[in-house]
Amino acid sequence: MNTAAATLQDLKTLEALESNVRSYSRVFPAIFSKARGSIILTNDGQKIIDFFSGAGALNYGHNDHAIRAAITDYLGSDAVVHALDMATPAKINFMETFNSTILQARGLRYRLQFTGPTGANAVEAALKLSRKGTGRHNVISFTRGYHGLSLGAVAATGNRFYRKPAGAALSGVTFMPYDGYLGPTVNTAEHLRTALMDQSSGVDLPAAILLETVQGEGGINVASEQWLRSVQTIAKDVGAFFIIDDIQMGCGRTGDFFSFEIAGLSPDVVVLSKSLSGYGLPLSMLLIKDELDGWAPGEHAGTFRGNNLALVAGTAAIDIYWRDEFFAQQVKCTGDFLHHQLLAIAARYGNRFAVRGRGMVFGFDCLAAQTADTITRKAFEKGLMIERCGPDNQVVKFLPALTIDRETLNEGLAIFDKAVAETMCRSRS
Ligand SMILES: *Cc1c(COP(=O)(O)O)cnc(C)c1O
Repeated sequence: MNTAAATLQDLKTLEALESNVRSYSRVFPAIFSKARGSIILTNDGQKIIDFFSGAGALNYGHNDHAIRAAITDYLGSDAVVHALDMATPAKINFMETFNSTILQARGLRYRLQFTGPTGANAVEAALKLSRKGTGRHNVISFTRGYHGLSLGAVAATGNRFYRKPAGAALSGVTFMPYDGYLGPTVNTAEHLRTALMDQSSGVDLPAAILLETVQGEGGINVASEQWLRSVQTIAKDVGAFFIIDDIQMGCGRTGDFFSFEIAGLSPDVVVLSKSLSGYGLPLSMLLIKDELDGWAPGEHAGTFRGNNLALVAGTAAIDIYWRDEFFAQQVKCTGDFLHHQLLAIAARYGNRFAVRGRGMVFGFDCLAAQTADTITRKAFEKGLMIERCGPDNQVVKFLPALTIDRETLNEGLAIFDKAVAETMCRSRS
């Protein structure tokens, strides 16, 4: 059997044995065997450029060899891998490194809570803490927000595609319009303030206001700094926890370690996951302001809290990339370049596309799901992995590794450019 036939056979195995719920193996129908940096190799030897980055879990690319050295050393030394939330040198190292290099360097002070390994686990913990701390049940979330798919998190997620299968009443969340949702001239923060200050608005006072500073799954919607500061003030005024879900936009994606640094925010709780371990290993964490750490010991538990291997990788990632300003500057610079390239591609087609984003996350809004679908499919056939987002999956989502070199970035952009040209040429004829 040649390799292409073998791949087809293996994909048939997947089809026969794996639940119908599988998703990315449909969108990217290949078998991925090796990866390094921004390049993935398939079983049949095709080279794929990765602009997807594990949905934001691989900000430093695949298999960063300096991080890999730290975890292979750790495994080779028979150090403790699983210890629930017991103290280990790996955990203490991570906490000290995170505290000094990330928090103190930014004048921030938080306690760290290690939650279960997924982003949704951490969101659940954040919401529970805010409800416990305020004695309130309602949470304000925003249109097109995405916070995970467990019951509490999906209640705060906008998309009906995810809400419907929950099969239970998704209660305890009131959705308010995100920045820009009602057009560029409506200040939706004022709308939120009015609803929360009015005794008769029908909106219960919230335990928390939960938001992403840039909505990832929701279509790369960028909130303005002014809007973010207004919402923070509103949260303070109504006695609600101000929670930033930085699961996808944190760990450098927007150019700073935290996506809210640009607006000078001081969130009560910050939710981190995805790229926190720096290696694609599951690790999630809450940052909690001292005075709001209202947990009783053991009150929120979980078997896989702060997995030591992931903590070792996370410590290495911070040591390698965040000791000084250089990496953040580089990310912003590469991001500016990417932004200009995308604007140039869009400009060739009049008003058919819109480009949004900041740092190194951009949405190329095709305004039609079919167009985005065709473009990303063609791109994959040509060797570029890139996914879609937005309420109708109409936005092509650029999420290359923050470490990508200019040559690979250009190569990927050239493939994308070609995929757009072919798609538009076909739709015109
Ligand atoms: C991915 C994501 C989540 C959910 O994380 P999981 O690990 O998939 O549970 C929550 N919030 C945001 C903003 C995300 O991007």
